[in-house]
Amino acid sequence: MINVSKLKKGVVIDHIEANKGYKIFNQLKLDESQDVVVLMRNVPSSKMGKKDLIKIENDIHVDLTVLGLIDPNVTVNIVENGERVKKIKLSLPEKVKGILECKNPRCISKTEHIVDIEFILIDAEKKLYRCEYCDARTSL
Ligand SMILES: [Zn+2]
Repeated sequence: MINVSKLKKGVVIDHIEANKGYKIFNQLKLDESQDVVVLMRNVPSSKMGKKDLIKIENDIHVDLTVLGLIDPNVTVNIVENGERVKKIKLSLPEKVKGILECKNPRCISKTEHIVDIEFILIDAEKKLYRCEYCDARTSL
């Protein structure tokens, strides 16, 4: 296994479902980050078989809404002085704004060019959200 030096200060996004790491990497816009970022894929995991992992050195504001939406089962660890100081459990957000896009071509948000539409969770199991304007259902 590739050895990645231990994080002194930063964020570790752990227990990412294998192959979802790159998606999360993009959604968090880590390709634009100036920090040291490591994406590890297919890391052996006793619990999951294989998992992906992202390490970010430095202080960043991880958008937990985005993370919860893509994969509510990931764990976010905050690391300071080489020690884990905080472990954050995610959940599927009740409401999301500015991430999803309405799939209804006749939705008023399209003609009015409204961004930051709010979507409300209606089915957690299927990850279904409804558009606040037209009630159309959308999932990520
Ligand atoms: Zn809509």
